[in-house]
Amino acid sequence: MRPFGYSRPSSVSNAILEVREFLAADPQSSLSFLAGGTTLLDLMKLDVVRPERIIDLNALRDELGYTRSDGSALRLGAFARMADVAADAEVIANYPVIAQSLSLAASAQLRNMASLGGNVLQRTRCPYFRDPSWSACNKRVPGSRCAAVQGANRAHAVLGTSDHCIATYPGDFAQALVALDASIVIAGPRGNRTIPFDSLHRRPDGNPHLETSLQPGEIIAEFIVPARSWMRRSLYLKIRDRQSYEFAVAAAAVALDLDGGMVRDARIALGGVAAVPWRAREAEDALRGQPLTEAVARTAARLAFAEARPQSHNAYKIELGQSTVVRALLQASSMELRP
Ligand code: SF4
Repeated sequence: MRPFGYSRPSSVSNAILEVREFLAADPQSSLSFLAGGTTLLDLMKLDVVRPERIIDLNALRDELGYTRSDGSALRLGAFARMADVAADAEVIANYPVIAQSLSLAASAQLRNMASLGGNVLQRTRCPYFRDPSWSACNKRVPGSRCAAVQGANRAHAVLGTSDHCIATYPGDFAQALVALDASIVIAGPRGNRTIPFDSLHRRPDGNPHLETSLQPGEIIAEFIVPARSWMRRSLYLKIRDRQSYEFAVAAAAVALDLDGGMVRDARIALGGVAAVPWRAREAEDALRGQPLTEAVARTAARLAFAEARPQSHNAYKIELGQSTVVRALLQASSMELRP
């Protein structure tokens, strides 16, 4: 057991005040936020992360635990529980890809505990990252090299990787957010700012230990998903080694705007195969203005993996990922929507 400081502020403004004081006293100290705890406590027990101070944000749930829609956007407080949002009637009806990405994640117990903000910030499941007895992991120990490149990499990414890290982004909800052009409101010591969600996660170029664009002490406060009626034609297809309580080996979040059988607009994001939540824009371009036939879907799927760079044990993800995209598109095109 390593000692750490602990506090539980009662509001966002108090939390930011504490952050400011803590960072002013020692900018190099390590600070972690505790929400549902489903990632942080695991990693502390494994001795992968060693925070000197934990700021428990669970009292912020009253302030930031909401799910609401104002006609122009769906707004999700970052401390809403995954299970609550997955069961929300408005989300199920108008943003099925969000409800499905949340309900297919983790286990019922974890979904009851985990927050939306914590979910998008979950760390990779790379076994070398989660086991400090391995000395080579650039994400855990910068500059130590990557054990997975020559090691067991069946579950690792084929898109968005670098020679420094090939870890897979493990979440599901993030793919739905990327596909739907969501943005996030961030609260921090320098005030609030709003950024596109797809700029939150960083590719593992030279510094895989830097996973997001969050600055020290910043907290995700809210997710904003623009309202578009055609988002009702959306879904999340998750392929995994077993049917429950398992991470994706390939996944696709898709949304389609159809005019008869023709594609007016399309969104595709990939999970389980990439280093970050991955938007497949070239594949979307290939669909626009085309009839959604299986042949057109296959062309789009091939383009989605055009940049794929397989490792020694994960080339299967390219074909599996393409099949997942095709199946998701065809399923979405045949969805029966209420008028
Ligand atoms: Fe570490 Fe990334 Fe390599 Fe895994 S893939 S060992 S997380 S550097």
